[in-house]
Amino acid sequence: MGKITGFMEYERVDAEYRPVSERIGDYADLTVPPDGETILRQSARCMDCGVAFCHAGIVVEGASIGCPLGSLIPEINDLAYRGDVEGAWERMIMRHPFPEFTSRVCPALCEGSCTLGEHEPAVTIRNIERYVVDAMLESGKIRPRPPRGRTGRRVAVVGSGPSGLACADTLNRLGNQVTVFERSDRPGGLLTWGIPNMKLEKTLVDNRVRIMTEENVTFVLNAEVGLDVPVIRLMNEFDAIVLCCGATNERRLDVPGSDLKGVHTALEYLSASTRRLLDPGARNESSLDARGKKVVIVGGGDTGTDCVGTAIRQGAGSVVQLEILPPPPESRAEGNPWPLWPRVLRTDYAHHEARELFGEDPRRFSTTLQEIHGARNNGEKVSSVTAVEVEWVASGRGMTPRPLPGTEFEMEADLVLSAMGFVGPERTLIDQLQLEVDGRGNVLAKYDDYKSSLLTVFVAGDMRRGPSLVVQALMEGRNVAIACDRYLKERKAG
Ligand SMILES: Cc1cc2nc3c(=O)[nH]c(=O)nc-3n(C[C@H](O)[C@H](O)[C@H](O)COP(=O)(O)OP(=O)(O)OC[C@H]3O[C@@H](n4cnc5c(N)ncnc54)[C@H](O)[C@@H]3O)c2cc1C
Ligand code: SF4
Repeated sequence: MGKITGFMEYERVDAEYRPVSERIGDYADLTVPPDGETILRQSARCMDCGVAFCHAGIVVEGASIGCPLGSLIPEINDLAYRGDVEGAWERMIMRHPFPEFTSRVCPALCEGSCTLGEHEPAVTIRNIERYVVDAMLESGKIRPRPPRGRTGRRVAVVGSGPSGLACADTLNRLGNQVTVFERSDRPGGLLTWGIPNMKLEKTLVDNRVRIMTEENVTFVLNAEVGLDVPVIRLMNEFDAIVLCCGATNERRLDVPGSDLKGVHTALEYLSASTRRLLDPGARNESSLDARGKKVVIVGGGDTGTDCVGTAIRQGAGSVVQLEILPPPPESRAEGNPWPLWPRVLRTDYAHHEARELFGEDPRRFSTTLQEIHGARNNGEKVSSVTAVEVEWVASGRGMTPRPLPGTEFEMEADLVLSAMGFVGPERTLIDQLQLEVDGRGNVLAKYDDYKSSLLTVFVAGDMRRGPSLVVQALMEGRNVAIACDRYLKERKAG
């Protein structure tokens, strides 16, 4: 514990965002982290409470409590307070494969269950994580650390999102020869193609892939297993396969007019935006550019919010974000006590940007889309939408939304984006391997051994648990690697 009275002396100081007028003109990092001295003082707020939930990584009634990776937070905070950044880093990477990603995009489940957070604003755990990782990056001290010996066993990892990267990294450290197959021309999965650059700069993904390549992990890009690469080849050439293919099957709009030009899914839109940034010479599909357009986004979650932020940077004329749920409460509801993750109303970076630019919050709660209209004389392009307010009523299946008659309203629209989440993993590989799935279409594999219904095929990340978070994908990737390595060792011994 850095300073016994730190939590009484210092107030929480958060990272600041760059001014809206500046940041909406580029796709660079949104935030300005506090200076080093401030961060180290913030570490002193950690009370080393003795019953720390922040690193518990447990699930209670379906909700995560603390860091799923079990990051050694009180110890990291203590070392950071003492100025031992390298010591904090060494402690961090005992549990954490890639803190450079979570220190930018993690919602910080740890802070939701920080003991100080019961009465005062929580310790700024994520900012401290970022300070440590950035200091290591800046000093060039995150270097390749290849394993000392090799087991002679070969493992294929399919998919290079956070779960695939964490799995490949851990298997490699355990001495296995790892090949990652990725269908895209760039690795990273949703780290690259989903999360926008202003939240996670893609140079960080490139840097990590470079380090892993120097550690002898092989990346095979433009290689869709089940299509370009027969899965039977993988079964023959590798001792085990780990599937980390994500849950990229997007939920699509199902209202009249959904087939009109100018209606896209969030991932189509966000990945086209990142493509333009990474490959400026790439063909620019104008229907996926929001410049000067009236944009309607269906879905009030983080993906929808990233669409708001991206549309603003592209120069949209207006942006509206529809959310079918009512707004959450301003503070914890009775059924949502500490140390559970607080389900409260949050106003994210893109909402602030829209407020400053257009004079109002883009969100319309308890509202859904009813119909999309197109101008027949305008090449079947979207011209407007009808939305309606809903009320939530009890039914046999729980609460369901019911349109409120008389509340329908029409809005002009040139671009309609569906950001309504994901329905699960794609089916090609699942069908080819005849893998068992659960009731939600995710590949069936137990949490502790990550084994699918097929011997030597393991599964992790969103493909196993359904759409989730980067930190959960990293945890699953790390743990599936340990389970796979254990299985291969036991098989050899047997
Ligand atoms: C827009 C958006 C924003 C998000 N923002 C955040 C955030 O701020 N914070 C956060 O914690 N989480 C966020 N998430 C969620 C997070 O990105 C995911 O939970 C996480 O990326 C899942 O990791 P994964 O490795 O399981 O799958 P993915 O990241 O989806 O990676 C799967 C990879 O497998 C590849 N693949 C699929 N099939 C094959 C095949 N047959 N052969 C070869 N390759 C294949 C895909 O191309 C992809 O690269 C966001 C998600 C989206 C969509
Ligand atoms: S990974 Fe996320 S939950 Fe874990 S310590 Fe970092 S910010 Fe907290």
